[in-house]
Amino acid sequence: MTNSSPRLGASGDPAISRRRFLIAGGITVAGLAVVAINPFDSGDSNYFAPTLSGAGPFPDPTKHTFDVVIKSGRVMDPETGFDEIADVGIDGATITGISAPSSGESSLRGRSIIDARGLVVAPGFIDILSYAPNPYGIWFKVADGVTTNLGLHGIQSRAEDFFSTYGSSAQRPPTHYGGAFSNPWTRSQLGLGVDDASSTKQIDALVATCDEDLRKGYVAVDFEPEYTPGVGYDEIKALAEVAKNHNVPATFHARYSDDMSPGTNAEALAEVLQIAQETKAQVHVEHIISTGGTFTMAQSLKTLNSARNDGISVTACMYPYNYWATYLASARFNDGWQERFHISYKDLAIVGTGERLNASTFAKYKKQNSLCAAFAIPESDVREALQTPWVMLGSDAILEPGNKNHPRSTGCFARGVGRYVREEKVLDLMPALAKATILPAQLTEKGAPIMRQKGRMQKGADADVTIFDPKTLLDLSTVENPGVESKGVKYVLISGQVVRNPNGNQTSVRPGLPVTRQKASV
Ligand SMILES: [Zn+2]
Repeated sequence: MTNSSPRLGASGDPAISRRRFLIAGGITVAGLAVVAINPFDSGDSNYFAPTLSGAGPFPDPTKHTFDVVIKSGRVMDPETGFDEIADVGIDGATITGISAPSSGESSLRGRSIIDARGLVVAPGFIDILSYAPNPYGIWFKVADGVTTNLGLHGIQSRAEDFFSTYGSSAQRPPTHYGGAFSNPWTRSQLGLGVDDASSTKQIDALVATCDEDLRKGYVAVDFEPEYTPGVGYDEIKALAEVAKNHNVPATFHARYSDDMSPGTNAEALAEVLQIAQETKAQVHVEHIISTGGTFTMAQSLKTLNSARNDGISVTACMYPYNYWATYLASARFNDGWQERFHISYKDLAIVGTGERLNASTFAKYKKQNSLCAAFAIPESDVREALQTPWVMLGSDAILEPGNKNHPRSTGCFARGVGRYVREEKVLDLMPALAKATILPAQLTEKGAPIMRQKGRMQKGADADVTIFDPKTLLDLSTVENPGVESKGVKYVLISGQVVRNPNGNQTSVRPGLPVTRQKASV
């Protein structure tokens, strides 16, 4: 037995690295569940390759020519902790081979080869907190590594209209796409103002619409009580029950965003957790960095963590920035905002120009309802949330023509996986990747079976792959100029098709599929 034939031994073989041994023993850095790694398999190929539970059979790599082979990259799978220099073989829209020639496994042959030396080969990023995939902004997502774009902050249309629009050949996006029923939008369609409480009859109408929208494909139910303060507990509870019945999460832009009474982060999270307890629905706190956690992040995370320990299915997401942005006419800028958010005029900047405000320009831009960034998130809150294993990334934006969006619309993932890993050293690469891949897949996969095949670099998983340079991955968008592509994402494959290569986005390639409650087919 030599060190070059790791397949011959059991886990004590010196050729098996300590890290592999730990993985074989079920221990990973991220502490995530290990599935489908069988170190005692005596097959003659793909010995250590992670494999999707129940998938296969797979072609014999010694005899097979794959459609595409991604060669010699650092292949990383956050679900299993797999982290090796390996070849990845793809047939059609599926990963069908993973092999590490440096460990004595077969080198893979492909009709088309992508040279990934020096690059990380990761599952495609899943943005759960995006919006409708407009044909302009979606390509900035691709440049940020995103392969699945889910509008879990609510879509402002009925599910049938949403899927027929983006299912049309004219509008089909490059990424996979899905969305959530929007409580604020739907109640506005019933004529309810943001401060209006609903009648029993109106709640019944909302429930019927929500139920139909989930049947037609939406994969979450979104609530935004901060923006619709009239929404009562009964209305939320009735709709969360619909979410529970369809096995999809109830997602919350929670009711309060600061630590000042009346209306604190603690009260906002208590409402979300009470809904979870009473309905047994899976709940998710949107952008905890700006709502439900700002200034109280340690306590807010502790509250949610102890709920998780009590068996409540609750998660949160964040955009990794120390400023939020919203429109100046929104309720966030009602009188008292300086005290609530611990900021003053100079901490506000107009998105697109970066102009800092004073009392008179504030009044002027408020009349125009301009989009305004507020430097109101303590950096320590950003770091604390990033270091929490169950807090995932979610951009909360997609760039619109005119480039007037928070830079998170274009740089959320490169910032979380690049800047905060390599430059700020806040977390390691594998747990950062988990926030962009397996965690969002797990959030949505109970209600949307297609998500069980995503967020994983495993044999049998969908061939949605983001290949980036870990030495250069970086967000470049700023408040002054939010419309800049992230740097370092070299290739993006979606359903096995190359939608981005080192020359840039391939805008004629649009393989996006609907993410619905049914299993999608190509
Ligand atoms: Zn929000």
